[in-house]
Amino acid sequence: MKGVLVILDGIGDLPCKQLKDKTPLESADMSNLDFLAARGEMGIMYPVKPGFIPESDEAIVSIFGNNQIDSTRGQLEARGSGLKLIRGDLAFRANFATIDSLEKGNIIDRRAGRTLTTKEAEELSKALNKINMSVKFLFKPTVQHRAALVFKGGFSDNILGNDLTYLQGKSINVEKISYCKPIDDDENSQYSANIANEFIEKAYGVLNEHPVNRERRKRGLLPANYILIRGAGIEVPKLKMYRRWASVAYMPLEKGFSKLSGMTVYDFDYPKLKKLDAYQNLYDGLKEACDFSIKTIEKVKRDFDYIYIHIKETDLPGHDNKPIEKKLMFEYIDQTLFKFLRKFAPPKNIKVVVTGDHSTPCRLKGHSADPVPVLLYNNSELKEKHFSEAEAMKGKLGKIVGKEFLKKVGFDK
Ligand code: ZN
Ligand code: ZN
Repeated sequence: MKGVLVILDGIGDLPCKQLKDKTPLESADMSNLDFLAARGEMGIMYPVKPGFIPESDEAIVSIFGNNQIDSTRGQLEARGSGLKLIRGDLAFRANFATIDSLEKGNIIDRRAGRTLTTKEAEELSKALNKINMSVKFLFKPTVQHRAALVFKGGFSDNILGNDLTYLQGKSINVEKISYCKPIDDDENSQYSANIANEFIEKAYGVLNEHPVNRERRKRGLLPANYILIRGAGIEVPKLKMYRRWASVAYMPLEKGFSKLSGMTVYDFDYPKLKKLDAYQNLYDGLKEACDFSIKTIEKVKRDFDYIYIHIKETDLPGHDNKPIEKKLMFEYIDQTLFKFLRKFAPPKNIKVVVTGDHSTPCRLKGHSADPVPVLLYNNSELKEKHFSEAEAMKGKLGKIVGKEFLKKVGFDK
């Protein structure tokens, strides 16, 4: 093995009041990451390009040297969740969300309060899959409020979904529901948008008064009564191949991306969300992710040149403005995965690279265009110290754009 790449989703942040004007990374106590930082170099990266606010898929696609037009979120998610697709099948990433009503059209929560249990999502999906449509479709729940939606047949993907939060490098706080729209005047694009809109409207009819949601309302929880979709795609993503790489990926997006990039994927089933505490579920997931990563590295170290580990949980506290949770997650990863890597890498001269796919500043409650810190451990002489946004800014690696990233840190295909 030559290198380990760890992506901490949503790593970057801005100073937080709750942390005495430090970022979660700055205030975290991370002796193992600091050990690696002190024996390597740091820098910053613009995952797509300066000024661009990336979604996770856009960032990862770019960090592995691809162009945005070569891939779509919908295809990555659907293939990563195990759906079989043929060309022309229209795939989306979907969210269970909460709206007040179709008539009023106010979005109350894009993720149904992050409290949808696995069992509830499965029950609701079963009902959704019985919707009577003129075309075949599949709705597959994945983790928490997340799902993939596929319409089978010869569709156009030149359409915008009804979730417009992130679009072409910009981010807006969407408060009203909208409809899927064609973005050219092709008849098939109009037709494809109509089908998607028909599904979304019927889905509301099925979900709003579903027993699962009646029960949720009774318990004071937000009903999962609306479906938001984004990332329309009909073509298999054409990605650069990384055949000498293994990947630890457990969310559908990262699984789909790794598989389509020719990597050998090692995954585990995400712990079910059984009770209402989404953060307890996240910690269960994080623990499993760190344990599983360590086991996988030990298992495959002789079979692959590189391993890509994507830790998703660190993105969530940013979206929820929970800087202390974010800091605690960094500390947990430091005490587990990085403690292991600190011992694992030096004797074999294995490089360790740590970065993120984008920044998710707590106070913005969403992704931002701020660059992410990069750490390259290469067992060089002692110099820089704490791994943080500010320290990385001064680092020798300088400013990197996503597409140049792997070359810059000396990882190849
Ligand atoms: Zn992300
Ligand atoms: Zn995010």
